[in-house]
Amino acid sequence: MIKPNRYIDINPSPPLADRIKRRREIILIVFLLACVGILTFVTLRPMWHSADISASNMIWLFILMNVNLILVLLMIFLVFRNFIKAFYERRSRIPGTRLRTKLVVAFGALTLLPAGVLFFFSIHFIGTSIEFWFKVPIEQALQNSLSVGRSFYSHVESNNTFFLDKAAYQIASHNLLSPDSSAKLFNYAQVVQREFNLNAVEAYNSNFKRLCLSTAEKFPAHALLPLKADDLQKGLAQDENTWSMSENIPEGELIRNIAAIPFAAHGLDVKGFIVISVLLPSEMAKNLTSISRGLEEYQQIKMLKQPIQATYYIILTVVALLVVFCATWLGIYIARSITVPIMKLAEGTRRVAEGDLSYSINVVADDEIKTLVDSFNTMTKELRFNRRQIEASGNELKKKSAEIDERRRYMEIVLNNVSTGVISIDSRGLITTINASAEKMLKLHAGDVIKKSYKSLLFDQHQALTDEIMERFTLRHEESFSKSMALTINGQRRVFKNNFSALKDESGRQIGIVMVFDDMTELEKAQRMAAWREVARRIAHEVKNPLTPISLSAQRLKRKYGKAIDDPIFDECTKTIIDYTGIIRNLVNEFSSFAKFPTANPMPCSLGPIIGESVALYREGHTDIRFFVEIEEDLPMLKLDRQQIRQVMINLMDNAIASIGGSGEIRISARVDAGIVRIIVADTGAGIKDADKPFLFEPDFTTKPTGMGLGLAIVSTIISEHKGKIYAEDNKPQGAKFVIELPAS
Ligand code: ADP
Repeated sequence: MIKPNRYIDINPSPPLADRIKRRREIILIVFLLACVGILTFVTLRPMWHSADISASNMIWLFILMNVNLILVLLMIFLVFRNFIKAFYERRSRIPGTRLRTKLVVAFGALTLLPAGVLFFFSIHFIGTSIEFWFKVPIEQALQNSLSVGRSFYSHVESNNTFFLDKAAYQIASHNLLSPDSSAKLFNYAQVVQREFNLNAVEAYNSNFKRLCLSTAEKFPAHALLPLKADDLQKGLAQDENTWSMSENIPEGELIRNIAAIPFAAHGLDVKGFIVISVLLPSEMAKNLTSISRGLEEYQQIKMLKQPIQATYYIILTVVALLVVFCATWLGIYIARSITVPIMKLAEGTRRVAEGDLSYSINVVADDEIKTLVDSFNTMTKELRFNRRQIEASGNELKKKSAEIDERRRYMEIVLNNVSTGVISIDSRGLITTINASAEKMLKLHAGDVIKKSYKSLLFDQHQALTDEIMERFTLRHEESFSKSMALTINGQRRVFKNNFSALKDESGRQIGIVMVFDDMTELEKAQRMAAWREVARRIAHEVKNPLTPISLSAQRLKRKYGKAIDDPIFDECTKTIIDYTGIIRNLVNEFSSFAKFPTANPMPCSLGPIIGESVALYREGHTDIRFFVEIEEDLPMLKLDRQQIRQVMINLMDNAIASIGGSGEIRISARVDAGIVRIIVADTGAGIKDADKPFLFEPDFTTKPTGMGLGLAIVSTIISEHKGKIYAEDNKPQGAKFVIELPAS
């Protein structure tokens, strides 16, 4: 039957599920890569922008480090998951997993080696670099520069303190703060400014009013605004002799040192204030600020040395693991793209081998695998088509062979039901058919002779006939001919009338011979019996009539002249005539009884007494012969013609005694077996020659000089009329054995 065309996907989850899974994996990898990138950027940012490092940044750094650690653990988990998956898949022995494991291990190993080398080299490199960076005496240099800057400032300050002390003393001692000495004060301020090379000198009274201002030539006087009371009094509260304040103006850093007049006066003693200003170049101030910030940052970074190192290591680990994970994932991905179609192909070939040609592989691929899968699908399609055609022609053939079978069976039934024997022989002379009747007639089994030469059927008895068959059919190309022949089958002579016909096919070519035959034995026997009876009746009729006058005449001659003629020849001749006419009468009687043989009149009677009576007749007359009678006790009653069965026994015993000729034994038995009563008369006489056996029951067959050959013919007739059969066998070890089989019912 042709199976419906259907497409099966051996993987129950459709490729859509696979694609979704793969997309999820790719998203995970991209996400991890992005995470690693962002975290690396964020972690390393403080290194590039050291100014940003602060306590909050530190906290962020540690948070990121922990997140990195979590990423490391995730990567380790993913990488090990891939390896363990590959390992268990290999153990499960699912087809295709070996290749997958191999590819995963190969990819893993391939990347593990360079990734490992790079990882350890980078670790070492980072470690030594960081150590190297922090080993260089940057901190010391920065501190020295800072202290140089600071000492410059303190030098300026101490100079200014000295100048302030001097100026304050002069102003106080000369009472230059009084309103009427303002010109003097201004002159003195100019002198101080020029002598000490100051940028500006100012004097304030106790009411914080600026009394005078003297500036250097190029100094922008407008930039020097009067100080406020708070600024002027700032140092008094701390009991300081001098104090300062700085201002940034476009030309540089302006340092204004303040002292009370008189110098180091407090409270009500303070008559006024003197302020001297020094302008420092702006670069110097900037440099000093950047040195001090640089030192600060350096110290903070030094504190972060360990965490940064650890972060680098973690990032490196994540990257290395990511590389290994990507490699193993790629291995799995590639292996899957190969093994899944291969598995499907393997399943497909298995299914095709099992006869399922409707199997078709549905794999998404665009390389050689696709070509392979397409070839497989084309192959199954063609096979399907071919099978359909084969099945169609097979069905046609089946139908035809069923018809032929039917016809053959019919012919066989006909052949087996005809009473005629039919044997067919092929062109090589081998038997091809033998029907049931032929088997029965020839007493053989079809299986033993089929495919054997027809000559074996003729038992080498008819070489002439086999030659004739050959000649007529192969040389003379005759169509048919008839021939009678006698065969000895199981020791019995059977006569067959045969008709041989040539078997020809549609083109007229001879393909064998068919032999049709009938068993004519019984018919022939009956015909011969009838003829012999007619002969016997005529002989009896013709011979019997003159026999009585001859016998009576001889007796009369003897009576009348026996005493008168004293010649022994006379007595001898009359005696011979009388004796031989007696013998002839007996013969004639025998002929007569054979000719007039009445039809059997069977009555139910038991066999035992008949046998017993018959044997009793002989026992006393033949003392040198031992008679044994074995009759089964529960022998059934048989329908027999008592007189005729007695005749049978007498004829068989006569022959047995004649065959023994002197002393010997005769054994008579009667038994019932499978519905057949078997009577056996066995003697220890001369036995029967094989050549004589087929003719024993013929009316004219005798080996005795005075025998008529009618005894066994009569026996055979009686037994056939009782629907039984008789045959002769050799008696072991010596003599002959006659077996009579009578139906028990
Ligand atoms: P006849 O006795 O007149 O010869 P039968 O028909 O009785 O005729 O016997 C035919 C032949 O069968 C005998 O001549 C004999 O050769 C052979 N025959 C019959 N019975 C026996 C026997 N018991 N032993 C040997 N030969 C036998």
